[in-house]
Amino acid sequence: MTAVSIKIKFSLFLAALLLVTILVLSIVVLRGIKDEQQLRMEKELLQQTRIANLSIKQAYLTSPPIAAQPFLRTRGQQFSMDLAVYSGLHVVLYDNIGKKVGDSVPLSSPYEVENALSYALQGKIAYQQEGQSLLYLTPLQGPESQMGVIQFQYSLTNDIRFYDTIAGLFLFTGTVVLAANFILGYLYFQRATSAIIVLNHAAERIRRGQFIESPPLKRKDELGQLSQGIYYMSSEIQNNITAMKSEETKLRKAVDKLQKLEQQQKQFIGNISHEFKTPLTSIKAYSELMELYSDDRDMHDDAIHHIQLETDRLTDMVEMILRLAILEKYDFEFQAESVNIQELLLDVIGRMRANAERFGVNITHRLEDVTLWADRESVVHILMNLLDNAIKYNVPGGSITISNRVAPNRAIIEISDTGIGIPLEARDKIFEPFYTVNKDRSRQSGGTGLGLALVKQLIEKHNGTIELIDDDLGNRVRQGATFRLSFPLHHHSSNKEDLL
Ligand code: ADP
Repeated sequence: MTAVSIKIKFSLFLAALLLVTILVLSIVVLRGIKDEQQLRMEKELLQQTRIANLSIKQAYLTSPPIAAQPFLRTRGQQFSMDLAVYSGLHVVLYDNIGKKVGDSVPLSSPYEVENALSYALQGKIAYQQEGQSLLYLTPLQGPESQMGVIQFQYSLTNDIRFYDTIAGLFLFTGTVVLAANFILGYLYFQRATSAIIVLNHAAERIRRGQFIESPPLKRKDELGQLSQGIYYMSSEIQNNITAMKSEETKLRKAVDKLQKLEQQQKQFIGNISHEFKTPLTSIKAYSELMELYSDDRDMHDDAIHHIQLETDRLTDMVEMILRLAILEKYDFEFQAESVNIQELLLDVIGRMRANAERFGVNITHRLEDVTLWADRESVVHILMNLLDNAIKYNVPGGSITISNRVAPNRAIIEISDTGIGIPLEARDKIFEPFYTVNKDRSRQSGGTGLGLALVKQLIEKHNGTIELIDDDLGNRVRQGATFRLSFPLHHHSSNKEDLL
């Protein structure tokens, strides 16, 4: 709506400007023509007056002496005829009392000229317009005084026609030019405003958050510059919004992570107090029993055995929690060195074999000669823990297979058992501190639910990963479990401080 009004406003303004120009021009030209015609006429009439005066005066002086009035009365008709021939105008002569003494067109109907005549009789020039004729009355001077009045009838027809033609021309050309100008102006401004409309649409789209891929207009004038400006503005806003959104996402992720961490920490503390209370309650109960039945030897031995078991569990737990806490909170200093995995695995298998045999579990291995850059003690801890689980959660007559190999830049170790396996829903949780699939089974075997959490922390400190491998059993509880460990073959410079 505004665009249309701009179009019309501009066109009307242009038309008004042109109208004023044409008006001023025509007024000036027409006024000039009129002045020019007037000047020419006056000059001619003055000339004719002078000639008339001269010839009549000459005739009067050369004729026998007679008073001016009778002279004019007798010769007036002749004079007016002569003067008319000479000037080409209709000439009327009056004597000094205003009586007509000669008329070059005697049969023409005379005009009422009394006023002008009396004026001219006083020695002044008088004009009187009659239709398209101008009656010019001028005194006729005798040798001593005014003899009478000469009246020339000057035709204005040509002048008026010429003036009208020019005025008509102005009117015609003025109208045509004005109309053409309005149409051309309208078309031109329509083009200009269509560009403004395009820019307006672009601005509207940006306002709605639909950013533009390129300048909405390609021109080399100010509108083109404006279009470029709108495009840059759009890109800038888009970049800012994208940056803001990515910052927001990052922030949200950080907040989520913090909240999760806080939640984990709360749970961790809750778990610690719970897990500590159980062995402590047990120890307390056994010590009370010992006090109550101080002379029952068997009872005493049993109580001492249990108290020792629970104290061992507590010690283990304290040690594990401390290690976990240290790993989480501080940049734990590793003693990184070249570790031959094959040798290390054989050593760990050797240490665990007796235990495995006790459970009726057989250990087999397929080992390659691979060397790692790692903290030996941590790797031993990791492998002992995993192997211990593979024995603990196995079945009598079951087996454990340990293998290692090299993948591009990584050393892979797999520990596979034929034990009770891990249900699908527990797979994501087993690495959480204190999580156990079956509390009783875990407790029976001296488990705390901290082993895998610590293993995971230690592996991650080595830039390694641990995962529980899927098999093709789908949703069913798998037979046994396979853990895959992956370590970088060489340490990265960015992690130097962790590993040195
Ligand atoms: P725990 O001290 O109870 O063994 P872990 O952190 O080592 O604690 O393991 C967490 C839980 O994961 C165990 O309680 C057990 O339920 C399950 N789990 C770990 N390893 C195995 C395995 N090889 N086979 C079956 N279940 C396992």
